[in-house]
Amino acid sequence: MNADILCIAPHPDDAELCCGGLLLKAKRAGKRVAIVDCTRGEMGTRGSVAERAKEAAAADRMLGTDARVNLKLRDGHLQDNDALREPLVHALRRFRPKVVLVPHWEDQHPDHAAVGRAAEAVAWLCGAPKYAPKSGQGVASSGHLPYRPDLVLYYQNRYGIEADLVVDISSVFEMKIALAGCYATQFGPGMQGAKRSKKEPLTKLSSEKFLTWFRALHAYYGFKIGVDYGEAYCLKGPLPVKQLGILLP
Ligand SMILES: [Zn+2]
Repeated sequence: MNADILCIAPHPDDAELCCGGLLLKAKRAGKRVAIVDCTRGEMGTRGSVAERAKEAAAADRMLGTDARVNLKLRDGHLQDNDALREPLVHALRRFRPKVVLVPHWEDQHPDHAAVGRAAEAVAWLCGAPKYAPKSGQGVASSGHLPYRPDLVLYYQNRYGIEADLVVDISSVFEMKIALAGCYATQFGPGMQGAKRSKKEPLTKLSSEKFLTWFRALHAYYGFKIGVDYGEAYCLKGPLPVKQLGILLP
């Protein structure tokens, strides 16, 4: 399946938490959405691998995800090297998305930073037929010309980023909360379906304040473009404007 938009997530829940608004809007516009989770979240402070997998499946049903794969790399051990780049190149050749969403290259979590740093190389290498030539849809064979995505967007981290663009997600923001809330083991009270296990340590995500922070972060970016809620993204290089609709909607 060719995807219009592919979100690369270090852990199951990052796609929904960071890009849920854009992904919901893409689905409402009839676009094909794929998600690649790099790990199973086995280093997570709360919840088990099996629970995270079930939560991801519930989020997929809510979002209407067209395809989702898990690379099963080692949580907490991702580095920008071939062990990460090759499976990501494979995923890009498999789904051939126009737009790729990846974590910002500066992030407190080393897995997020590693994926963010690998992304630019991966977006280039997937169009180099002699790099991992057997991966993807026969990229080096006739009829399958090398492919590269049109655009790589870097999504926000918990500290906030100097946004190059902000997507207005006001119309789907409550749905985004519900989508993130599918990860009941991870988030605090107020998120739909959230459950509290007293046996597991409290994290920032599972704190009572999380929903307040989550609203405030999105309201902050919304403020920057004069809407209720926004999702922030960065890019390297100029934003290609091929249709005036972006400037003159
Ligand atoms: Zn993560």
